[in-house]
Amino acid sequence: MTDREVIVVGAGPVGLWLACELRIAGVDTLILEREQVRSPHPKALGIHARTIEVLAMRGMQEQFLAEGVKMPRWHFGMLEEKLDFTKLDTPYPFVLSFPQPRTEAILEDRALELGAEILRGQQVTGLAQDDSSVTVEVAGGRTFSGRYVVGADGAGSTVRHAAGIGYPGTDATVFAYLGDVVLDSPPPPGLVVHNEHGALITAPIPGGFFRVTGYDAANQEPGRREVTMDELRSMAIRIAGTDFGMRDPSWLTRFGNATRQAETYRNGRVLLAGDAAHMHFPAGGVGLNVGLQDAMNLGWKLAAEVQGRAAEGLLDSYHGERYPLGAELAEHTLAQTALITATSAEGQALRSLFGKLIVTQPSVSLELARKLSALDVSYPPADVDAHPLVGTRVAEAGEFLLDGHAIVLNLSGKPLASASEYARKMGIGTFSGTFALSDARAAIIRPDGHVWWATGESQVDTATRLALAELDAAF
Ligand SMILES: Cc1cc2nc3c(=O)[nH]c(=O)nc-3n(C[C@H](O)[C@H](O)[C@H](O)COP(=O)(O)OP(=O)(O)OC[C@H]3O[C@@H](n4cnc5c(N)ncnc54)[C@H](O)[C@@H]3O)c2cc1C
Repeated sequence: MTDREVIVVGAGPVGLWLACELRIAGVDTLILEREQVRSPHPKALGIHARTIEVLAMRGMQEQFLAEGVKMPRWHFGMLEEKLDFTKLDTPYPFVLSFPQPRTEAILEDRALELGAEILRGQQVTGLAQDDSSVTVEVAGGRTFSGRYVVGADGAGSTVRHAAGIGYPGTDATVFAYLGDVVLDSPPPPGLVVHNEHGALITAPIPGGFFRVTGYDAANQEPGRREVTMDELRSMAIRIAGTDFGMRDPSWLTRFGNATRQAETYRNGRVLLAGDAAHMHFPAGGVGLNVGLQDAMNLGWKLAAEVQGRAAEGLLDSYHGERYPLGAELAEHTLAQTALITATSAEGQALRSLFGKLIVTQPSVSLELARKLSALDVSYPPADVDAHPLVGTRVAEAGEFLLDGHAIVLNLSGKPLASASEYARKMGIGTFSGTFALSDARAAIIRPDGHVWWATGESQVDTATRLALAELDAAF
């Protein structure tokens, strides 16, 4: 018997956000989480602009903005010449320093408030699927069944393995150190040091700590995860000439650059999101961000599928749209790894050249900042004759997508009488916008804030009604 509509494995940030998205659409959702308590260590610190836009679409941005530290400049490949985020076309032109455990706590509260059930201490050990359901086994012998299962269970995903989905890529060849410490003599904000010994970067963490992290060319022993305070201190002195008065570590660790991507994000009734679908060197602070955006893309599609509203192909478009971005993520984090580890004379020359380009060519800085922020993400339409806006993101969609439904955006200044009536029948709202969206007079915006359809035609009411009719058939 199928007990649940969707089972999400993993209560990390991605599983929690997905549960929020499923619940907002009314899908019965169970999360199974292995750990009884959440890890206190902030793996991720950087929250980027598109993620804040995504949070704003559900009215969740304020708490993040109130608690986080805004950083207007951020690095690419630990180059000393920082990228300028202030010129980004977003209401949030910065990187927000925000510790992962707080992100998870906020998302967990929200998921519970929306009615998701979270069972902790449930380690999934395997699964089996047939035409109508998936049965999930948990350590201790208990089983759960659901119509769909999503593996948001991190890089070592049991779900991915049990579903027979390959995870090709490369093992770690480079290792980085990390210490979250108090600094009695902190450097100027956002210090980056790079030389023949390695790299060191500092970033503030809300609560008075600093993250000191980087690459030590002389400390590349594979497999070791721990770092002592003495080691961190001597690495800092060797690379930066000072230990900045570091003390009272809250977390010391080492991590590698293993880079892998699931060969498919869907196998039948099993889907993957977040680190279960892609892993990489955490350069540029993007993994959690990409994972949340996976969940945003998947949530409304899976809800439509479960509720019998989805056309053939809608759920598969999750892989179609998100897989290429996972591949791009691997590419730019590998490129950053090359820059970070470039300690030879040739490598230093490459860094110097790249740094000059960032300073002298503002478009280079802007393009890289857009990439890290995921503001360059657009989902190419299948129809080549589609309006150029189709697939692009709407930066300020937060105003009108709060309930997670698609919406007709009327920018024509006239009422869309017959289109509005049709939209109402489909349960889609109408919003009369006061801002410009290129030359569009009307657009239909997906629940994840990307343009589904747009028109610049003067017969905007008729065009919108026809588009809604097409959507009705396809959704
Ligand atoms: C040092 C470091 C710094 C980073 N900095 C950043 C940053 O600044 N910005 C950024 O965006 N990203 C950053 N990342 C990456 C980010 O931490 C990850 O991308 C993010 O945690 C992925 O979230 P997730 O929910 O997909 O997986 P996870 O956070 O790994 O969560 C998976 C969850 O599944 C649970 N689980 C696992 N197996 C099972 C099972 N069998 N059964 C039940 N539950 C299971 C786990 O306990 C866990 O709670 C960093 C990573 C590291 C290591």
